Amino acid sequence: MSRILDGKRVRDAILESLKPRIAALDETQRPPGLAVVLVGENPASEIYVRSKVKACQDLGIASEKHLPTADISTEEMLFLIQSLNQRPDIDGILVQLPLPAHIDETQVLLSIDPSKDVDAFHPYSVAALVANSPGFRPCTPAGIMRLLDHYQIPVAGKRAVVVGRSDIVGKPMALLLLHANATVTICHSKTADLASECRKADIVVAAMGRAGFLTQDFFNPEAVIIDVGINRLRDRPAVDRMFSSDVSKLTEFDKKGTVLVGDVHPAAFQNCAAFTPVPGGVGPLTIAMLMSNTVWAAEQRYGGQS
Ligand code: NDP
Repeated sequence: MSRILDGKRVRDAILESLKPRIAALDETQRPPGLAVVLVGENPASEIYVRSKVKACQDLGIASEKHLPTADISTEEMLFLIQSLNQRPDIDGILVQLPLPAHIDETQVLLSIDPSKDVDAFHPYSVAALVANSPGFRPCTPAGIMRLLDHYQIPVAGKRAVVVGRSDIVGKPMALLLLHANATVTICHSKTADLASECRKADIVVAAMGRAGFLTQDFFNPEAVIIDVGINRLRDRPAVDRMFSSDVSKLTEFDKKGTVLVGDVHPAAFQNCAAFTPVPGGVGPLTIAMLMSNTVWAAEQRYGGQS
């Protein structure tokens, strides 16, 4: 029987561990503060922002939303970020991506004070990650490391394959695994024989954005599979192909007209050592690590705990 790695349980443990740290800050200074900037109207981003603000409220982190309209210029965005940089009550600044095409995204991300870069996209944070020195770590890969640790899955000396090389997930994931002494291979769309690379791995992290792409023949039966992908299926034949034997998923699709699947074909989970389900695996960890980064930012401001 493959072991299920429950991301909600790990999220709850992370959030629980933050509570005394937030209480200590609240007592001696003030609660940590997070500013979230969401430009224009984007229903998916609005849902993410709402969940982030809700997580702050539940924990006692002060949060505020900035909702400029889609026609804001790059200069106006830079002005907004500068004003947040200067605010002593704001520890973390998060700009929800993607930004509208006319805004210079790189310039905006560069303008965030590195000490408030809770998403860890600033080159300063990237350099700290590469050098394995203290700094913010990107939330999703950092959450995956916490999950591996929580379930006591050994990483040192293991072969890890990361499928995907994005700046947000794939590359930082590979670096974190490397720093934890795994032997890491990064695969991408030009990798010659993806299946054979994956089959050699003790740990596979799939971060491709391709629904059910990695089928059972990509994994050895001892593999730990971490499925980062979030893909929405909207047509019934695709759902049938993916979940032919899972009545609950078919019923869910019939009710909602949509169903989520990761980058790993669900059948592959039946024959591996352990796996993260979609949903309920990696997804819940990302916001928990954003909260963790915000608390860490506040602690750094008031006394340099690490
Ligand atoms: P990107 O689109 O930025 O990157 C996808 C990567 O996958 C690229 O490096 C690409 O290779 C690689 N890839 C695509 N097709 C193939 C293929 N056929 N064979 C091998 N490699 C391939 O995606 P992200 O990294 O931003 O996100 C990946 C997935 O993770 C998405 O489904 C996203 O929704 C999800 N996600 C989930 C999060 C969570 O909290 N659970 C958080 C962030 C992302 P190449 O570079 O050659 O093009």
